[in-house]
Amino acid sequence: MIRTRLESIERFAILSASAESLIADIPAFAPHARPATLLRPTASTPGVRDSSIGGPLLWPADEPWPVCRAPHLMEVREKLSDEERETWQRIDSDMEERHRRNPGRGYEVTAEEARIQHQIMAGASMLDKITWERCRWVGDTSGPGVPMVPVVQLYSRNVPGEHWPAGMDVLQVLWCPNDHSELPGQPYYSGPTVELRYRSSSAVETVLNPPRPDRADEGYLPQPCAVDPVEIVDLPERDELPEDLYDEGCRWADARGIEYHRALACRSGWKVGGWPSWHLTDLIPIDCSCGARMRLFLTMESSNDGPDIVVGRFGELRIFTCPTDLSHPIRLNIQ
Ligand SMILES: [Zn+2]
Ligand SMILES: [Zn+2]
Repeated sequence: MIRTRLESIERFAILSASAESLIADIPAFAPHARPATLLRPTASTPGVRDSSIGGPLLWPADEPWPVCRAPHLMEVREKLSDEERETWQRIDSDMEERHRRNPGRGYEVTAEEARIQHQIMAGASMLDKITWERCRWVGDTSGPGVPMVPVVQLYSRNVPGEHWPAGMDVLQVLWCPNDHSELPGQPYYSGPTVELRYRSSSAVETVLNPPRPDRADEGYLPQPCAVDPVEIVDLPERDELPEDLYDEGCRWADARGIEYHRALACRSGWKVGGWPSWHLTDLIPIDCSCGARMRLFLTMESSNDGPDIVVGRFGELRIFTCPTDLSHPIRLNIQ
């Protein structure tokens, strides 16, 4: 009895500080609210007929499995010549000697030494001073391509909303578990390539046993999880609101002992819909090639449990879609 009462008090506390209750108190927030579904993944062994993260996909046996043929970043190492190594070591010891004589100054190279070092590096990004190798990243396009891996499968029965094309009830997200940069149509993005598929579950009779990637970054291989979706209302962050309204929202949150950002707005976690957080960069407007401002569709979050993935610097990979036409190319962004 006591337990039930406590639970209902807790539930009331959560409810009283939700985006819905903020909107009830400050109706000017209503036009800025967006529905979202938090997926809340936990480790499990989902099947092809389940919504899942990192689980098996309902995939027609006669449909080719997606393969990534974009250049894969590969580290190439070149040994310095003996002469180059000796020159570099001499510059290092001259620099240390200057520092010893004049500790007030840091370790500095002269303009001439910098020019020589630049020449030795020959455009490489790093020098390994243990093996004396220059390292550079190059795009490797050799080989037959890398089979993509399942990241998300959602059934419309678990994640209802307006984002389902007519007649489709399964959404599948796959990615190539490797880093790529300078992908066509993806400015400022470096990370996995991503494919989205919608299908009708009734049209799939047999299921394919998918090929596995022969090269993969461990952090891009999600562990299988079941999802426990919950519908919420999400609000935008400061840059996407009138200033006065944002201040009013913060005061409302402060009075309830919560943070506006993340508790009411830009909710964290694996999420369908809602608003993106711009906590690493200022707001980057993401526009479709048709000119429409794109909307956040899916957020995939780094974590040490559940799906156990790492994107960016332990950040979030977000997929944006065109509100005018879902068939327009998606945009990717990592924060
Ligand atoms: Zn790839
Ligand atoms: Zn568009």
